[in-house]
Amino acid sequence: MGTYHSTRSRQQAVSARAAVRTGLAPDGGLFVSDELGSTKLDVATLAEKSYRELAVEVMGLLLPDYTSDEIAACVDEAYGDTFDADEITPVVPLAPRTGEAPDTPSYVLELFHGPTSAFKDVALQMLPRLMARTADEGAAGERIMIVTATSGDTGKAALAGFADAPGCAITVFYPEGKVSRVQELQMSAQEGSNVAVCGVRGNFDDAQSAVKLIFSDRALAERLGARGTVLSSANSINVGRLVPQVVYYFAAYAQLLRSGVITAGDAVEFCVPTGNFGDILAGYYARELGLPVARLLVASDKNNVLFDFLKTGTYDRRRPFYTTTSPSMDILISSNLERMLYHLSGGDCELVAGLMASLAETGSYTVPSALIERIRGVFDGGWADEDEVSAAIRDCWERYGYVIDPHTACGYHVLDALEPAPDARARVLLSTASPYKFPRAVASALGLEVPDDDFACMDTLAEATGTQAPRQLAELASKPVRFTDVAEIDELGAYVEQAAERFA
Ligand SMILES: *Cc1c(COP(=O)(O)O)cnc(C)c1O
Repeated sequence: MGTYHSTRSRQQAVSARAAVRTGLAPDGGLFVSDELGSTKLDVATLAEKSYRELAVEVMGLLLPDYTSDEIAACVDEAYGDTFDADEITPVVPLAPRTGEAPDTPSYVLELFHGPTSAFKDVALQMLPRLMARTADEGAAGERIMIVTATSGDTGKAALAGFADAPGCAITVFYPEGKVSRVQELQMSAQEGSNVAVCGVRGNFDDAQSAVKLIFSDRALAERLGARGTVLSSANSINVGRLVPQVVYYFAAYAQLLRSGVITAGDAVEFCVPTGNFGDILAGYYARELGLPVARLLVASDKNNVLFDFLKTGTYDRRRPFYTTTSPSMDILISSNLERMLYHLSGGDCELVAGLMASLAETGSYTVPSALIERIRGVFDGGWADEDEVSAAIRDCWERYGYVIDPHTACGYHVLDALEPAPDARARVLLSTASPYKFPRAVASALGLEVPDDDFACMDTLAEATGTQAPRQLAELASKPVRFTDVAEIDELGAYVEQAAERFA
């Protein structure tokens, strides 16, 4: 008996475990559950709960066929000493250095205290643990090979999550020479007996397309299957990545309750730097579970396809692609939007299937006007160009003495440009990466000298701001490089096959 089915059809119901194991529905849709929102969490009791207690409760509701013991074990493993903050995702105030505090105070929800200093750790520390408990959904002795193409952050977070995970192995492809030096070192120095990392001669889109071909290569799947390996994805379309992200919205609210900023029932506004729409969709799920969310603000960089969609009701990917200082938001096809369309259309699979077919065939779709109105009732948003990102980093430092990275800066710009929602008692900006992951862009925005070397630049940044680089980033400078493989675009399938053989 399953509660999950595809956004594009109800024909096949699967369990939450099967949804986690397979990632994507067979018809290309995303797994959703119609039970979302049928049970609410009691907001009045949130203040008493720790991050881990909230995680067990929220994830238990959304993944009903995992036992509570299983969820509790996953939570203990994922959110132990792998995070360097007691609150896991601490909330810090943006308090003006001088002058009066505004009527609606702003806070930053720091999501970057995990092992790779990016918010993806919150989900990618959890996904492997959830996956390891799905063995009964596969054949006896079956091994999962995770294959991921990355523009920088996802790859390292997935490697850190899946390194030595039971029953799993992982291969990561990144565009050679097109990720930051810190990002490349983070991946090439990855430890673990089941990991493979390979540079690709091409850009991220080339690598992503090649990985999609690997997933649809039947002959390859058969050869791998004969040796007991199935392929899966750690991409943010997996419900096992979405669900852990719902937790920190509750955790943020609980912290605001504890500090007396709000009382139970007060509405809070959240502003989210957005790419694939996973992080902000988790905020919508939190709202459906009863969290008093005033409004969800979608913040984009110069690739502002989501902003245009909110304004016009037309999603159109036929536009130039910009490479920015916020690479994890440089996305033209925002996959998780499909889930939002499903939920806000009242579960209209036929509509969603039609829109997605139109996107695949023509590169665009237009939603019915009643639907875009409903979407605007929950979401608003904005975007920042490169100069605005830079100005936001500087402004946040000058006004609040707080250093943000270029992704978070897109959110800062949007929050600053929009008046608070009338019912919001507090505003929360989700910070998705440590500024030390992007030291050059941040130092340059602050008007500092920018050394060529990323690690020297981290030192400059630390000295000028009195902050500290996360240990795991600073240590990279002296880590031995384990992987130096580089492959042509048409060799990636063979690379995965060899890796699978090595790990078998
Ligand atoms: C992935 C990522 C984002 C975008 O998150 P989505 O869930 O894809 O919207 C924003 N900032 C950083 C640093 C990221 O790594």
